[in-house]
Amino acid sequence: MTTAAGLQNYLQDTIVALSTPMGKGALAVIRISGSKAFQSLIPYFRAKKQDQILQIADLQKKERLFGFIKDREKIIDEVIISPYKAPHSYTGEDVLEISCHCNPFIIREIIHLILKTGRIAKPGEFTQRAFFNNRIDLTRAEAVGDLLNARTEYAHRAALSQLEGSLYKKIARLLEELTSYRIELELEIDFSDQELPEIDPNSLKQKLVSLAAELQELLATGKEGLIIREGLKVCLTGAPNVGKSSLFNYLLAANRAIVTATPGTTRDYLEESLSINGYLVKLYDTAGLRETAEEVEVIGIARTRELLEQADRIVYIEDGEPGENGFREVIEQKDRGMVIRVLNKADILSKEKIDEYTEAGFIISSAKTGEGIDELKELLTAGMTIDGETIESGILSNIRQIEAVEKCLKGVENGLRSLDERLGFEFTAFDLKEASAALEEIIGKITTDDMLNRIFADFCIGK
Ligand code: GDP
Repeated sequence: MTTAAGLQNYLQDTIVALSTPMGKGALAVIRISGSKAFQSLIPYFRAKKQDQILQIADLQKKERLFGFIKDREKIIDEVIISPYKAPHSYTGEDVLEISCHCNPFIIREIIHLILKTGRIAKPGEFTQRAFFNNRIDLTRAEAVGDLLNARTEYAHRAALSQLEGSLYKKIARLLEELTSYRIELELEIDFSDQELPEIDPNSLKQKLVSLAAELQELLATGKEGLIIREGLKVCLTGAPNVGKSSLFNYLLAANRAIVTATPGTTRDYLEESLSINGYLVKLYDTAGLRETAEEVEVIGIARTRELLEQADRIVYIEDGEPGENGFREVIEQKDRGMVIRVLNKADILSKEKIDEYTEAGFIISSAKTGEGIDELKELLTAGMTIDGETIESGILSNIRQIEAVEKCLKGVENGLRSLDERLGFEFTAFDLKEASAALEEIIGKITTDDMLNRIFADFCIGK
């Protein structure tokens, strides 16, 4: 846990960072936050109008100012400054944003001047301060990170609605419900000798059953929520030469919304991300595994099996040729819904062959002519059931949230059990307290340093 004194010291620093990417460009924004934010710039700023040193009160008016940053008589840049007085700012502290020209030399010179008063911000520290100063809860802080990383329509929508508090509101309501049951139980325990209306265990049980159902419904959003945020993992597999690489390349080339174009990090498979029907899809091509030297081949096959284990969808490809096929047994064991069977090279296959495979449930494709590619794309995302409305009503989108809801559900189920077994209301109250604590973790009412470090370490500096 963060100690109050440690937190206080930490929040006293004034922090500064470049909030836009470093490089050459039209504009850059440098952000300063903390009790000395205004003070840190005063000696170096001259408003264009009067060319004189401003007073802090001038910045407290919250008006944008046009002027120069000067180090003694040397002009560093012509800038616009936007002051935000606490608590009406992103961090809840005094914040100053300097829009300057985007030139690494200018940026460094300006930051250097501010460093006489403050220090460089850590990754995510502006958002972390917003959290500590109760401007946002933890789900909204996470959404800031997600919004910066969102590369597809649904990921963007999910992050934005979480930022607007959809998940927070849902959790807060469930928490309120749990708290009211706990208060009822605790009153009964503390004042059992007094004239209070008695708790009806059956009615409480019913309420807990419906709460558990709601938690289960929320948990169900987590599976697709994770996919929306992290991508649907699709693995192309099949015997050598059936056309895995060709289909992989066709899918990428036919898709104008390629998200990244970096080759995979290992030699064993290729990975590319693209957007299909609004979803982020991570496509893996395991081509060429068996054409390599023996030892590499063994490692490669092990990797492929690992990929198949982690995949959300498997595209299993054949080309109509009979042949030895090591992956068939793996595919057979998979849930039918996750495997899409494809007969490739339709352009050179006989009608009989095509009919035979169609009958067997294969979709018919050709990496040469593009036949079947649209159908394949539709099938890839067909199993996704979350719609925009569900996303906007608040969904779980990361492991931390999912684990906490699982913990909460366990608490509620334990509560139900203790009621059933008539262990006494103290036990039920204890179980519901555990359930509440799990929900409080989601929104950040209860935190640990470790948890916060993990969340904010993924942010970039300046956010
Ligand atoms: P992989 O080993 O499964 O990745 O197969 P490749 O993509 O390397 O393809 C093997 C061979 O089949 C290459 O010569 C491709 O040009 C050819 N090929 C792949 N797809 C098709 C197709 O749809 N039609 C035809 N006619 N040839 C194809």
